[in-house]
Amino acid sequence: MLTSRRSFFRRAGLVAASAVSVPAIVRSEQSAAAAPGARPRHIIHMVADGMSSGMLTLGDLFSRLTRQHGLRWFELTNSPDTRIAFVNMRSLNSLVTDSAAASSSWGSGSRVVNGVLNRLPDGRKLRPLYALFAEAGWQRGLVTTTEITHATPAGFAACTSSRESAEVIASQYLERKVDILLGGGQKFFDPAKRKDKRNLPAEFRAAGYTVMERASELDAAANDRRWLGIFYPSHLPFMLDWQADARLRKRVPSLAAMTRRALTKLQHADHFILQVEGGRVDHAGHANDIAAGVREMVAFDEALEICLGFQRQVPETLLIITTDHGTANPGLNGTGAAYGQSSPLFAHTLKVTRSFESLATDLPKAGTVAGLQALLLSGTGYQVPAAKAELFLARLQKKSPVLYDSMNLPAVQLGQLMANHLGVGFTSGAHTADFVPLLAVGPGSEKFRGFIQNTDVFPHYLALAGIDFRNPQVPLLAEGGPTAEEAERFRLLV
Ligand SMILES: [Zn+2]
Repeated sequence: MLTSRRSFFRRAGLVAASAVSVPAIVRSEQSAAAAPGARPRHIIHMVADGMSSGMLTLGDLFSRLTRQHGLRWFELTNSPDTRIAFVNMRSLNSLVTDSAAASSSWGSGSRVVNGVLNRLPDGRKLRPLYALFAEAGWQRGLVTTTEITHATPAGFAACTSSRESAEVIASQYLERKVDILLGGGQKFFDPAKRKDKRNLPAEFRAAGYTVMERASELDAAANDRRWLGIFYPSHLPFMLDWQADARLRKRVPSLAAMTRRALTKLQHADHFILQVEGGRVDHAGHANDIAAGVREMVAFDEALEICLGFQRQVPETLLIITTDHGTANPGLNGTGAAYGQSSPLFAHTLKVTRSFESLATDLPKAGTVAGLQALLLSGTGYQVPAAKAELFLARLQKKSPVLYDSMNLPAVQLGQLMANHLGVGFTSGAHTADFVPLLAVGPGSEKFRGFIQNTDVFPHYLALAGIDFRNPQVPLLAEGGPTAEEAERFRLLV
């Protein structure tokens, strides 16, 4: 087995270098290992955060433009070994979940109020998955493109009344000795920036961690130590900006590179669970920035290739691939006579070189029609007509009203302006109530099929690990949400 694992990682190295080669999806001895009742030794839980069906589709279309093949996601959908489910991700207080409540449902098996991590409205704390798996002797890892303390990774390991308590979440990771922590969010570990002035990097080192800040350190990290790799002050940069900046590429590893290194280390463990999050798919959705979003989808797909290659080589691995909710649900609209303009418009995404996040740093300086036109032409290839540039600048100064209040955000307005050039429209700047797809491969995958609830995942994972435990659950809060007092207590996100 070790020989085959080594050969996987030799091949994975090639995958990282070429970003195209991938182990063929074939039926193998994995079919026997995935017999009903078989238990996995490893679980990989992948999340493309905020990925609606529209974002998944557009990611595939963009992948065909840039990689000459679609997303591995769809290839996997066609594999006879893959089980497919749709999941109701609603939270305790709303049909529309946020990432904290969504991840808590996976991490504790209970629905909580949006904005909360693994706590019930009456204050009761829920035991998170990674605490239970630690007791059962499983190694545990979190890999993300967001701040490592962000809601989705935190839901597997932390317990706080507010997802915003990033400094508390960072210290809870240390208390729980999570074996691998890779992502962004240095500011929440820095003694100069933390309210309590604790020097968390020093505390992590004292607890036996290798602490890393650059991609090259990750390459060299010893596999027999725990890892804290935080490569950026806040979220890791959008791939769109990372690809255009050699200094960023040197400093910050890609999601695929972090995932490959995490699996290189974890392959030596008898049992491990690893969460891999493409967290900035969600942020691109919030920003109505499709050129950034489709590149995050491809980056997630490259990490998926790494995980799938590992699963094929180490078939005692259960691989779950899903999302937590839709965000702003982009769609390529029919445009032009017989919709003939849609395809060429979407191809304009290839010409975009800056994310909205990056453009926003220069937007205040581009306060004139000519300035805005120059900025968008250089960053996106869009020659904005003067009349539309005027309209957009008026919107930024809130001089003209919008009919749908949820569209009254600068990023959403920029998304609408760019839709003339890219063909893609969005529903708002917020999450949506989409039922989400979930793919499962490997032993235990038979539990994940049909229409299921988000709270079903936790008991399945516990059963597969042989852990007998249930967290308490409470009835759904009445539509209309929590009381004002509850909302205040949990500083509810909307
Ligand atoms: Zn979000």
